Amino acid sequence: MSGIPGVTLRGMEAIPVEVEVEITGGLFAVNIVGMPDTAVRESKERVRSALKSLGLNLKGRISVNLAPADIPKEGALLDLPIALGMISAMGALKQCPKALYMGELALDGRLRRVRGAVPAAFLARQKNIPLYIPSENAEEVALVQGVEAYCADNLSELVMMLKGEEKPRPLPPAYIPEAKINADPDFADIKGQMQAKRAAEIAAAGHHNLLLVGSPGSGKTLIAKAIAGILPPLTDDELVETLLVRSTLGMKPEPGRTRPFRTVHFTASTVSICGGGFDLRPGEVSLAHRGVLFLDEYTEFHRDLTESLRAPIEDGQIVVSRASGSVTYPSRVLLILAANPCACGYLGDPVTPCKCSQYEIERYKRKLSGPIMDRIDLQIAVPKLTPEELLSLDNKGMSSEPSASIRKRVINARNIQIERWKEYGYTCNAEIPEKLVKRCLTLDDDTRSFLAKAAARFNLSGRGMSRVLKVSRTIADLAGDEDLQKKHVAEALNYRQQSGR
Ligand SMILES: [Zn+2]
Repeated sequence: MSGIPGVTLRGMEAIPVEVEVEITGGLFAVNIVGMPDTAVRESKERVRSALKSLGLNLKGRISVNLAPADIPKEGALLDLPIALGMISAMGALKQCPKALYMGELALDGRLRRVRGAVPAAFLARQKNIPLYIPSENAEEVALVQGVEAYCADNLSELVMMLKGEEKPRPLPPAYIPEAKINADPDFADIKGQMQAKRAAEIAAAGHHNLLLVGSPGSGKTLIAKAIAGILPPLTDDELVETLLVRSTLGMKPEPGRTRPFRTVHFTASTVSICGGGFDLRPGEVSLAHRGVLFLDEYTEFHRDLTESLRAPIEDGQIVVSRASGSVTYPSRVLLILAANPCACGYLGDPVTPCKCSQYEIERYKRKLSGPIMDRIDLQIAVPKLTPEELLSLDNKGMSSEPSASIRKRVINARNIQIERWKEYGYTCNAEIPEKLVKRCLTLDDDTRSFLAKAAARFNLSGRGMSRVLKVSRTIADLAGDEDLQKKHVAEALNYRQQSGR
């Protein structure tokens, strides 16, 4: 008796599972062994009903063995190999081609979308065998280069293919349109706020973390959301990385090369943001990998949660663990935080007076400090415009620059970075490790002493100086300047001091 190869998931990795089926005489019973979870046990009923749709009635004692026994197997991904194992054991399928099979079965025999099809495609490619999947998973698997994969709508179609009665159906060709983004909101619709817009452009260009502090109605949330419309497209490698995370959760790929933009609310749980749960799923910080993680009303987030974001923000990856083990997910995010300037929200507002006491203001400022804040390179005050300022902007008929033209500069600056860091395997200035900063981001004597003086004045650590240098580099890249100059460093320093902390 030979097994049918299937897979189970461990984090973003597909682990091979052999499904062996034996049918002996006696009263009808199905017994599945090999650490199956509830979903696998439920698959008995689904498989039995799906086989009926093929006109096959299960009889006798049926033993299903999932090997290796010592790894937990999860989800409905094993329905298909279990069904094929039974069909083989009944003699209705003489030969099952050597391949990987995955898919959940509906009661009528339809093949349903499963999570983990992209990790399974990686495994099939590595083993150099074909992969059979539900048609609903075709779109994401088609994006994986160099894998031989076939899809089917239902069990009967698949069995016909395996018997050679029907041609195996290859996946439709992957179509990745060059992401044309419809910016919504568009920066053209946001009045004034030149400095915040400039910071947003720098953040998008170099993938630098950003804090926006302003009273309600100042437009800080709008500015944060508008950043989605100026992000550069994902590179090929980045696209596959984001695809892998989404597939692990059973989510479809984002359209084109759009970078993720994930907004989380302060009521969200640590598991939903950082990942975890019984099957160690990735959280929002990993779904935002290579894109934006936006925390609006940052001071409302629980301290424990912001504390648990420190490591993934710094390391670009997060270890999710439980008694059953631990897995690592990527988390190279552009973190955007928005916050009010004080508890009542109106400190520094040109119209509404602040009602907070000095003590309350000091206490609130402490919330805007700590380990996460040290990792925010661009800290910007977003003052609300006075009615007079708004009116005068209207009267001048001054239109703001649209997102599409800002995005062009961002893409140019990112391409310069991709080219520069190619040999080291990085794609943007923000992710450059300390030792590369020292080696590659050099300053002339005058600029170096300028930075050293500023560092002493602002009490900047070595790491803080590196972060300033990386932002300076992005500012220079946006300008198309090859050398790091004093003006770039001065502008970068300015953004560390803006929010008035
Ligand atoms: Zn206040």
